[in-house]
Amino acid sequence: AKPDARGKRQKEMAKIWALALHGGAGPIFGRDYGPEEAHIAGLLRDGAARLAAGEAALDVVEAMVMELEASGLYVAGRGASPNTAGEWELDAAIMDGRTRRAGAVGALQGFESPVQAARAVMERTPNVLLVGDGAATLARSAGLARVADPKTYYGAVDEDTVQEDAPNMGTVGAVALDVYGDLAAATSTGGVLSKTPGRIGDTPIIGAGTWADERCAVSCTGLGEYFIRANAAADVSARIRYGNQPFEASVHGALDDVKRLGGNGGMIAVSASGELAWGFNSSGLKRGLADWRGRFEVATFL
Ligand code: ASP
Repeated sequence: AKPDARGKRQKEMAKIWALALHGGAGPIFGRDYGPEEAHIAGLLRDGAARLAAGEAALDVVEAMVMELEASGLYVAGRGASPNTAGEWELDAAIMDGRTRRAGAVGALQGFESPVQAARAVMERTPNVLLVGDGAATLARSAGLARVADPKTYYGAVDEDTVQEDAPNMGTVGAVALDVYGDLAAATSTGGVLSKTPGRIGDTPIIGAGTWADERCAVSCTGLGEYFIRANAAADVSARIRYGNQPFEASVHGALDDVKRLGGNGGMIAVSASGELAWGFNSSGLKRGLADWRGRFEVATFL
């Protein structure tokens, strides 16, 4: 929604914005993530400039995740790995905090940008989640860029990750607060390594891997089944709302619950007042954080 006259006045007053990106929670110790970190830093600069110039959080998180998908550097979009049947089934979600409108796709085949398809579900249908052929039909009717030959397109699959049989946690995500006070989150993934055909993880499950409301926006990465069972992303908001927990403690509390169930991974989050938080209980979390106060951090491990 475009800001109204009142929104414009608020824009004059509220110059605060914040942005966080992630590139997955399963980095391998000892490997150089320089290219990923340089890529995240570049995106962060671009996203920060867009938010500072008054672009909506929803549009910025979609744009950031599209770039992460297209890079081939992560296990999402172009860098996704195939399931056990040798097919690429991709999941993604996007959510607007102010309205709680959301869109998601599961097991989508044949399109370059699953997050764009998720946005199309949100904008063009009364539904929240479409999967498989239904998601592909919608993406086609929205005119989204298609992948002609998956084997060639996804050729950028990370051989190191596959060969080392490391946990495949290269999901990508973005969360943002814009100058109008709106929060948004988006997440996209190829899912876990060697997944079963038809398997859908936490990423497109609103509340599990992706969430935005008037309190916070959250994007998760990790062993999706545990994030679903913990309803991890929405749990951050619930801890603030019902438990009166501070924002950062809410992020860590939600991740602790994932761990208690036996899962691991990480998340990024932003609050309505522009605080940024992240956490992981896996090997690391490729991440970038920026805000209106000049914070600018990119890191992979602790
Ligand atoms: N959470 C994703 C899934 O389970 C995997 C990941 O984060 O890499 O599909």
